Amino acid sequence: MFMKKYAIIAKRDEKSEKLKTKLKDALDRTLEYDEEEPDIVISVGGDGTMLYSVHRYIDKLESVSFVGIHTGTLGFYTDYLSDEWQQLVLDIQMKDPEIVERDLLEVHYHEDVFYALNEMRIENNRRSQVIDVYISDEYLETFRGNGLLVCTSSGSTAYNKSIYGALLSPHMRAMELSEIAGINHNAYRCLGSSLILDETKYILLNTLNYRNSVLCVDLDSIELTDNELVEVYLSDRTVRFLDYREVSFIERLKRAFL
Ligand code: NAP
Ligand code: MN
Repeated sequence: MFMKKYAIIAKRDEKSEKLKTKLKDALDRTLEYDEEEPDIVISVGGDGTMLYSVHRYIDKLESVSFVGIHTGTLGFYTDYLSDEWQQLVLDIQMKDPEIVERDLLEVHYHEDVFYALNEMRIENNRRSQVIDVYISDEYLETFRGNGLLVCTSSGSTAYNKSIYGALLSPHMRAMELSEIAGINHNAYRCLGSSLILDETKYILLNTLNYRNSVLCVDLDSIELTDNELVEVYLSDRTVRFLDYREVSFIERLKRAFL
């Protein structure tokens, strides 16, 4: 077995904390617990907990792999349910998993680089947000509305779904630009559809009226302070997931939404 050290990141609720204790008691017999330099991170909670776990180790993605156990219904980043925790322990101890990579968005603003597993968005719920949109070096449109969102394929089932963006097969290397309440009438025009782009493209967003506008990246947010460009790329960095068992995307869709 290639991995030696592990960590568990649990959601702060009773069910997840208890499950963490059970997993740790079982795994401590064969593996070493190390929260600073783990090879494997077990996320206990929901998809939101997995987002948190990935960001907790964002500087160590090249050496860490993730696996998720859900304490609610099956999620999109979690392959086990809470009553399957003993199977997860056995799989970690006995099986050689496949490594499945998921894409990250790289968001450049000022000197900073942020990474998104689900999505980035520029949002404003006080006044209509004006954003010039460029796809690579081509001008597309001047958007007006509440904001714009760019998601990865595995983030397409999150916020993007609530604004009627298309759902993407989770291992497609693509990013999707979706509108948040775009204004579309005789004076102002915006595309009105989600736009799915391949990895050779990047997106430049120039926020013209940036007052009250917020840049959100997964769980984090910052206020925009001037109209500097926000650049969005599909990153060369990826997040590695341990795939001990195959859970189909269609099955996840059915369990989550139907
Ligand atoms: P949250 O408010 O608990 O998350 C909202 C819901 O999104 C939760 O049910 C969460 O699942 C689910 N979710 C997260 N990633 C997903 C994915 N890739 N596919 C399908 N569902 C997913 O907040 P959070 O747990 O901190 O998660 C932050 C995320 O919430 C953001 O990245 C954004 O996508 C999403 N969000 C959505 C809306 C919206 O739909 N209007 C608004 C704000 C934020 P779990 O219950 O399993 O954690
Ligand atoms: Mn959540």
